[in-house]
Amino acid sequence: MTKPPMRDRDDFGVALVTGAGSGIGQGIALRLAELGARVVVTDIAETGIADTVKQIEAAGGTALGQKLDVSDPASVNAAFDETERWDKCVDVLVNNAGIVGINPFLDFPLEDWNRVMAINLTGSMLCAQLAAREMVRQRYGRIINITSVSGIRAGVGRTAYGTSKAALVGLTRQIALEVAAHGVTANAIAPGAITTPLTESTYTEETVARLLPMIPAGYMADPADIAAAVAYLGSPDARYVNGETLVVDGGYVCGGMMQTGSLDLGTKSSS
Ligand code: NAP
Repeated sequence: MTKPPMRDRDDFGVALVTGAGSGIGQGIALRLAELGARVVVTDIAETGIADTVKQIEAAGGTALGQKLDVSDPASVNAAFDETERWDKCVDVLVNNAGIVGINPFLDFPLEDWNRVMAINLTGSMLCAQLAAREMVRQRYGRIINITSVSGIRAGVGRTAYGTSKAALVGLTRQIALEVAAHGVTANAIAPGAITTPLTESTYTEETVARLLPMIPAGYMADPADIAAAVAYLGSPDARYVNGETLVVDGGYVCGGMMQTGSLDLGTKSSS
């Protein structure tokens, strides 16, 4: 087996980001453009797309705005066709679009379950499949799935969300295994608590007050913190990192029962 040729480390090529009109996706699109990628800014909402494209162009970058509903296979196909007409195939795919849909497990509506799965999981699979076919052909590609710490630790009401994000970690490994020999990587990023329109509309002051003590770093991060991880995993430099999930959460997942409090809390002296 031969090693894939090493790309110039600054050559990000064409990057397609889903859900790029808001929050984390917008932060990722802006960062990739800053790194020189020609960015296909996609989202279900036209206003968000226009805003991100405007910001990229104002900073001297290159962007194509493209409406894309990841839960609709026809929309996914059309967006990838349009991308190929615009430039060439996608070199970096970031599956970022996602919804939460909180309901108690005992009464979780099937309709809501199906919607969350269609966007968070099936949508990511469809986009990755289309992108990977071309990536394999050109022997280069970076697929990044935005999962969540909710895919690692359970949370009340997150029956569909948490399950979809855990499955996305599994999907990432499945893809990685089958594309690895073709110069293509698939990795996941699991953000912790990030300040975005999503969390601003769903977190109350009480939610934040209860959350912060569980985050060793002591604060909620910004979309730029996730974009920084994409900057590495999406780069030519990351060619030997495959099937991995990078947790970006200020230490939240690594904590256990004694993650806060003083050193002697609940510990008998050994002397
Ligand atoms: P956000 O601000 O709501 O951004 C998500 C974007 O995706 C929105 O523009 C949304 O459009 C779009 N979208 C929704 N359904 C779509 C569809 N069917 N097709 C294409 N785009 C669609 O959320 P965010 O906080 O930036 O989250 C981005 C990703 O990070 C999600 O996958 C989320 O699960 C993950 N994440 C976030 C956090 C956090 O703390 N914020 C933590 C862990 C993981 P509309 O606004 O019109 O619905």
